[in-house]
Amino acid sequence: MRYFEARDLSVSYDKVAALHGVSIGFNQGQIVSLIGANGAGKSTTLRAITGLKRASKGEIWFEGERIDQVPPEKLVSRGIAMVPEGRRVFPHMSVRDNLLMGAHTRKDKAAIASDLERILNRFPRLRERLRQNAGTLSGGEQEMLVIGRALMTRPKLLLLDEPSLGLAPLVVRDIARLILEINREEGVSVILVEQNSRMALRISQYGYVLETGRIGLEGASAELLDNAHVRALYLGG
Ligand code: ATP
Repeated sequence: MRYFEARDLSVSYDKVAALHGVSIGFNQGQIVSLIGANGAGKSTTLRAITGLKRASKGEIWFEGERIDQVPPEKLVSRGIAMVPEGRRVFPHMSVRDNLLMGAHTRKDKAAIASDLERILNRFPRLRERLRQNAGTLSGGEQEMLVIGRALMTRPKLLLLDEPSLGLAPLVVRDIARLILEINREEGVSVILVEQNSRMALRISQYGYVLETGRIGLEGASAELLDNAHVRALYLGG
């Protein structure tokens, strides 16, 4: 069995099927990307993994244990953290307090303080803005903040939903670099959902292409970057 396996997931919204038997799996320490058009089911796959939307069929296994019936709030203590699409920061709270919200279920004060330090070392832009309200940050900084907040839960597996959405190319590059660093230096496995297929395939080892609720194609990211179908449909030729 692999480190993470979702087997044959099906999900419906009010009887309308959104996923038809999606399977994904990977080993510890990998970055895998999930690409596909609008409405293909990428966010739904992440919601099914975190239990925010229950699959009607299928199984999810993480570190050798079945997790598809575990309540979403319990998955955090198993080491799974999700950063949803849309950068939901608490706009009227400081950057520091936003980060600490990620640790609100933890009681280990000393470890929380050292995690905060480590995260601020990784995101110097956040350190410079520690007392500023989160609502005043740029889009890229807010993305760093929500990723930093997720890291405060000490995840082993990070699910990122469209981290590059609406960001300028240079900022996308910063975010991509940060995702790679977090993966390499902290050993966090990542499932990366992206509309920016090129970025996602560049930083991941393996990719899945979702097409109307099914995995249309999967393979090593380097091969997908070269694949004619992927190039035509998802990489702008
Ligand atoms: P996007 O990039 O636009 O977020 P996506 O690939 O993440 O697209 P999903 O958001 O997972 O796609 O949507 C998959 C399908 O499920 C779509 O047909 C969508 O309309 C439908 N869907 C998603 N969320 C809901 C919901 N809360 N209620 C009803 N249908 C939904």
